[in-house]
Amino acid sequence: CGIVACILKDNRAAPVLLECVRRLEYRGYDSVGIATADPMINIKKDRGKIDEVDSELDLADLPGSMGIAHVRWATHGLPTAENAHPHTDCTGEIAVVHNGIIENYLEVKEELESEGHVFRSETDTEVIPHLIEKYMDEGMDLEAATATALRKLKGAYAIAAISSREPGRVVGARKESPLIVGVGDGEFFLASDVPAILNHTKNIIYLDDGEMVIIDGDVRIRDLDGNTVSKEVHVIDWTA
Ligand code: GLU
Repeated sequence: CGIVACILKDNRAAPVLLECVRRLEYRGYDSVGIATADPMINIKKDRGKIDEVDSELDLADLPGSMGIAHVRWATHGLPTAENAHPHTDCTGEIAVVHNGIIENYLEVKEELESEGHVFRSETDTEVIPHLIEKYMDEGMDLEAATATALRKLKGAYAIAAISSREPGRVVGARKESPLIVGVGDGEFFLASDVPAILNHTKNIIYLDDGEMVIIDGDVRIRDLDGNTVSKEVHVIDWTA
């Protein structure tokens, strides 16, 4: 599948995410979804190709300057509206998009259900927002909660997570699925590949496996233990 995230200077996150995700449609096209934070999380998603879902839901019509988007290639759970990404926790205050497969999701899901978490999809992905919720409820911030969640999970992922509890911040991470960071002029992007965001910036940081990125007006790269990783910004010299 393909994932995108952005933090912009104006309230055009949804139309920009829609434009970027269209460039990723080759990566998956059984469903599409966008979440923005304003700071409350708003989501539009459904099964179908981007054009079909857009004419039905008007995907660009969501408020806010930041958000995440996804085109899905289903691996766990049929292509349905419920299984489309973004997925949220119980409160709807945390939203996540994910590319990859979480191998131990069934045991994690059972554990979370026994603690009272109610799941709404059949995806492997949905354990991620519920785990982040659990750790944020224990007092961690979005970054620490996401790192703790990912340390518990086995499998492959590129993710982007947002929370209405931490407006203005996107946390991303990757392991065996692609994810790049775009550093614009006061604007920041995450995407599965470089062409998705080339209209917006040509300054790219390539994340490596086991790295996470926090964007919130600044860009910080860390490992899952919270250690800072210094990375080079590459300037791409080909056109979109
Ligand atoms: N495993 C997740 C799902 O089935 C993500 C699939 C993807 O990478 O599109 O929803």
